[in-house]
Amino acid sequence: MTKTPWIATALGNNNSYAIGFIQEQNFTCGYCGRDIGTKIGIQTQDTVQRIYICPMCNRATYFESGHVFCPLPRPGETLVYLPDNIRPVYEEIRSAMQAGAFTSAVLLARTLLSHIAVTEGAPENKPFNFYVEWLDQNNHIPPKGKHWVSVIKNKGNDAAHDLEMIDSKTANLVLVFVAHLLRNIYEMSGMLPVPPVTP
Ligand SMILES: [Zn+2]
Repeated sequence: MTKTPWIATALGNNNSYAIGFIQEQNFTCGYCGRDIGTKIGIQTQDTVQRIYICPMCNRATYFESGHVFCPLPRPGETLVYLPDNIRPVYEEIRSAMQAGAFTSAVLLARTLLSHIAVTEGAPENKPFNFYVEWLDQNNHIPPKGKHWVSVIKNKGNDAAHDLEMIDSKTANLVLVFVAHLLRNIYEMSGMLPVPPVTP
């Protein structure tokens, strides 16, 4: 059986390119979120355009002039202990951020606060401000966390009622706050080998 050479070159329209072990690159995979380093991919001879295959999830990431071009890394931390009805909302906020849809991300973050309250036992079909109060009164907001929860609430209200477009800096701040709240409520207790007993 003939062995296929691992490194191959071919002539494109204006540039030849190499396939196989190319210039090494470290980056965060936009699909699986892992920090990786790899040499496996395709690059043009001038190395301006490069495509790398993630060794963890086998998906391709495109680089141009030394910068990741597509897909960008997913903003926000990976949380593994979220309830089934919370996880898709949190992940959609991250996807909206990744796509640059910052106003949509903040609107969804606002909605997520209501989802969290109902999941934790609040009555359904109440106004948004009721749920923020409920989370506070039921000790889901840390003592020094009221200020940053009010940021999610106020920025979400600006987007929802005044159609205010949200910039990336504000949206990133809101995402950090949302992740922190979720970590406090679900992630910390999820790490315990035995679920905590409610007094
Ligand atoms: Zn990956």
